[in-house]
Amino acid sequence: MKSEKTVENLDHLIICKKCDTLHHKRHLPPSSVAKCRECGAILYRHHRNLIDWGLAMGLSALIFFILANSFEIVTIDLRGIKQGITLPSVIFSLFENGYWLVGLFCLFVILIFPFVLLILYLWIMYLLKTRQDEPLVEKLLIYLAKMLPWNMSEIFLVSIFVALVKLVGYAQINLGTSLWALALFVGFDLYLSKSISIDEIWRAKKRIFRGKDV
Ligand SMILES: [Zn+2]
Repeated sequence: MKSEKTVENLDHLIICKKCDTLHHKRHLPPSSVAKCRECGAILYRHHRNLIDWGLAMGLSALIFFILANSFEIVTIDLRGIKQGITLPSVIFSLFENGYWLVGLFCLFVILIFPFVLLILYLWIMYLLKTRQDEPLVEKLLIYLAKMLPWNMSEIFLVSIFVALVKLVGYAQINLGTSLWALALFVGFDLYLSKSISIDEIWRAKKRIFRGKDV
């Protein structure tokens, strides 16, 4: 009981990520932002349509993720021999050639991890939208907070572009539909992970289930 009270008290405090100053949270009107008194960094926001916006962004990211894995990223033309490359085929070829460790790492980073993150995110937003099961929302938010720092989708996209630039000298490269879908997926994914913080979703949860704003 005592520890619950402590957690409840900690919920009213926030640390500035830039200068480490401790602040008390205050009620914010919709569509406004709280800034650090010392350095001016944004501490937290009150999105007017956080849940609807998050659901729309999450579903868009999921559609582009499916498209990115369904078609060819590039077609390589090496002296008349054409080969289409899809994201799953890259992973399978690693396994076929005996690179099990690299294959497993890629399978996890490219396919499983982003998919699980998106499903977790959409599940949380759906539960908040339908006002269901607060304890489950809390558990899922804790999982999401632990997983987010390992999200490397943008690094993966940049590494694909670097590899393509290096290949240009050796073969003719035709960009496929999935490359653009992947770029759009990374854009939505970045928006979700950088613009909507776990803290904001946590406060939205409190507003929805308990009518509290801080
Ligand atoms: Zn600050």
